[in-house]
Parts: sequence; C-alpha cells; structure tokens
Amino acid sequence: MAELCHCCSGKAFSECCEPFLSGEQLPETAEQLMRSRYSAYVTVNVAYIIETTSPNFRKYYSPKSILEWASNSTWISLEILSSSEKRVKFTAVYLDEKQQLTRHTEDSRFEKINGRWYFRDGK
Ligand SMILES: [Zn+2]
Repeated sequence: MAELCHCCSGKAFSECCEPFLSGEQLPETAEQLMRSRYSAYVTVNVAYIIETTSPNFRKYYSPKSILEWASNSTWISLEILSSSEKRVKFTAVYLDEKQQLTRHTEDSRFEKINGRWYFRDGK
C-alpha cells in the first residue's frame, strides 16, 4: 500500500502533498497549501516553508526557528477545523522538544500573488 500523506488527508502522499513539496505542482487552494506546509514541517523541508510564505511577510519568519521547531517536534496529526478561500483554521498536534503533547490551533491567512498561493500570517 502507498504511504499515507503526513497531512492526515487519508490520501497517498504521492497523490497529496508530495507533488507540491517537490515543486511538480502548485497548490490550487489555500487548504492544499496549508496541508503541504504541515507536511513540510513533518519532513523538515524548511526551504518549502520559506518559499510558500508571502514575500511581503517572509521577513517575520526565521529559517533557523522554523528548522528548530520542525526538527525538535514529533508531529502527530493535523486537523482542518474550517477552510475558506483565504483562511484555514487548523489544529496541529505534536510532541514538543520536552516530549509534551501540544495542540497548536491557528487561524491562518493566505494570499494569491501572480497565480500562486502564499501563507501570510496566523494567529
Ligand atoms: Zn497531504
């Protein structure tokens, strides 16, 4: 059986986030981008996380802290709570660097620039 995608979609990785992470395809929706960014955290693909952050907001995110968060965490699950054209609310569950079970709920905003979806910010 094919490897299931990290983003908990229930689809095969090769038919879900992998084509986005490898750059073969561009996500068509904010939710696809959000899911692929979660998969990028799981696979510690810092370059993808930076590339898919809006050029207008990239300065607020440090590659070093993304790398530390991604690699010091054990990613358990992603649940999409709600999703609309430009917003995705989700909960990511992971063990932090002290092995504490953590639930990170975020309301993320996305924007489309020149036909490409980017993550803007979240709260
Ligand atoms: Zn996926």
